[in-house]
Amino acid sequence: MATRTDELSCNSCKKSRSDVSQPLKRCAKCLKALYCSQECQRTDWPSHKRFCLSKAEEEAASAENYELKVQLKPGDIDNPAIWRTLSCPAAATFEQLHRALQIAFGWATTHTYDFIVKDPDYKPEEHEEDEATMIQRFTATFQRGRQSHNAPRENLLRIIAKPQGGFGAVDNMYSGMRSHPQTPEKRSDKLKLYEILEDARYRGSDLEYEYDFGDCWTHAITVIGRTDHSTTFSCIAGEGHPCAEDAGGSSGWKELVEAYRTASPNEAQREKKEWFETRCSNQDRRGLAGERIKQWDKGLVNRMLAQV
Ligand SMILES: [Zn+2]
Ligand SMILES: [Zn+2]
Repeated sequence: MATRTDELSCNSCKKSRSDVSQPLKRCAKCLKALYCSQECQRTDWPSHKRFCLSKAEEEAASAENYELKVQLKPGDIDNPAIWRTLSCPAAATFEQLHRALQIAFGWATTHTYDFIVKDPDYKPEEHEEDEATMIQRFTATFQRGRQSHNAPRENLLRIIAKPQGGFGAVDNMYSGMRSHPQTPEKRSDKLKLYEILEDARYRGSDLEYEYDFGDCWTHAITVIGRTDHSTTFSCIAGEGHPCAEDAGGSSGWKELVEAYRTASPNEAQREKKEWFETRCSNQDRRGLAGERIKQWDKGLVNRMLAQV
């Protein structure tokens, strides 16, 4: 029998590596404790928890940042595309990432948001549905505040904003549409980036940030790699003028862009331009004509990110 050392034995049952048929697996959070089985890990968690979380926290606090490329509606908004690459502290919370994204994309923070980890095995239901049935299903979902057990699960995890008033009824109504009985929900202010990005259960799953459940501004998040450690967010690169808040989704945004491109705008197009320059929540009085559609202020973004 092999000598039992702390390094090479199960943290729970104390069996050594040679006593068990499977190789011992490391705790995915702290990467320190070893376990021979999931049962052992579960049994040990109440006593291991304290050590584990502080160890993981300690490591994340000095770990390299994540370099994330975040793109607004890829494949849909592409003329020009709107994306930013951010350097993000591993120990930052998802609530802080939300604030950084609001700054980087020039949003006005007037709506709620969530982050979702998509289920790679999700297949949309394939059945014909007439309009009346669809309306019935939507109404039932709104009343229930979440989707039914019968609907296929789309997401492995949903990271939600701290509940607060002030957001429109539309946001609250659609929030229910995004809940599912088999999709756990965690609070964005209590969850750190490394806890999701290092979790083996979510490897290979797409990560998305959705802002404004009415206009559905979906941002795809890709982990590019690791970069120098810092305690604040910074914006490394990007493309595209910030999108107009409440533009009416990507089709509304494209109409606004078109209103600036056309040589002789009609009445509706002139009104759109006037709205964007004077009344939109993230208005730009310089409009989007010519090269403006490509412009964004990286320096300003980085000065604001330093405050997050
Ligand atoms: Zn064990
Ligand atoms: Zn651990």
